Amino acid sequence: QVVPEKNIPVIPAMGKDNTSSSPFTKRLEGKIAIVTGGARGIGEATVRLFAIHGAKVVIADVEDVLGLALASSLSSPSAQAVVTYVHCDVSSEDDVENLIDSTVSEFGRLDILFNNAGILGSQTKHKKSIVDFDAVEFDRIMRVNVRGVGLGMKHAARAMIRRGTAGSIISTASVAGVMGGMGPHSYTASKHAIVGLTKNAACELGKYGIRVNCISPFGVATPMMVNAWRSTHYDGGGDEEDEDDDGGAGIFNRQVLVEKTEEFVRSLANLKGGATLKASDIAEAALYLASDESRYVSGHNLVVDGGVTTSRNCIN
Ligand code: NAD
Repeated sequence: QVVPEKNIPVIPAMGKDNTSSSPFTKRLEGKIAIVTGGARGIGEATVRLFAIHGAKVVIADVEDVLGLALASSLSSPSAQAVVTYVHCDVSSEDDVENLIDSTVSEFGRLDILFNNAGILGSQTKHKKSIVDFDAVEFDRIMRVNVRGVGLGMKHAARAMIRRGTAGSIISTASVAGVMGGMGPHSYTASKHAIVGLTKNAACELGKYGIRVNCISPFGVATPMMVNAWRSTHYDGGGDEEDEDDDGGAGIFNRQVLVEKTEEFVRSLANLKGGATLKASDIAEAALYLASDESRYVSGHNLVVDGGVTTSRNCIN
């Protein structure tokens, strides 16, 4: 048996939101990036990190107030960053086309698309068995999670091919896209579909120098996860879209819910040391896939889950 030496940190001190652990700075200098679902959660952490690393970033979201506030706070003269906001419902082809076209006309080209917008749907409804499958909810989730990613790939690839840009297209899948039993039925189907789209698009776009990858996070205590946790444990019936709805949370305020969600995720992770998965950990993965350091990586699904999916079936 190998015994760890004392005083060796079990895992590196990561997870401070919005900081980069990398010794390299400005890894995206001069690049133009779009982050869908960039107004909050994983998208917001990625917008911040991409901007720190010198990219000009366009936030695309349907939460206009949040998105505009983030863009203006990051674009303040002291921040020395260029971050803009475009309203875009990723399930609308007109919106996605407008997003890509307006980015190219403002900044000259597009280097990075992070297809990150996604919805979980109503957790309470989806606690139902497959024999109670909700076709309406299925269509709603597929429209955002799969159609949205497909449309993003289509219009980003067109813009990159037209300009001869060696671009990087990244999408957020999930551990629910890797194995079953990690989320509601429709969400799981949608995230498996994102992994499939990624592999196919990577096959085809490599010849243009465009890399296509996805990231599969485990649980991060974003509004989506916290609301899901609340509705599962307190049966409030809320979903990720009604952030202000406190139904079911009872005496728990949002901070308590975040802590409870993180505690739950930590208890499942297969990493010693009580590591909490943060949105910034996913942003770091996106930074790697967006930067030239991953220039030989395409068609890959980068799982960021503290070993959960691989260790679930371990027999030793
Ligand atoms: P979140 O709900 O906090 O943020 C999602 C963002 O997407 C929000 O700003 C929302 O307004 C935006 N959005 C939703 N529908 C949209 C649409 N039609 N068009 C444009 N924007 C839209 O959630 P998050 O946890 O940050 O999720 C980001 C991505 O990560 C999602 O694809 C999600 O499925 C995935 N993911 C999250 C977790 C997790 O534990 N948080 C785990 C695995 C995968």
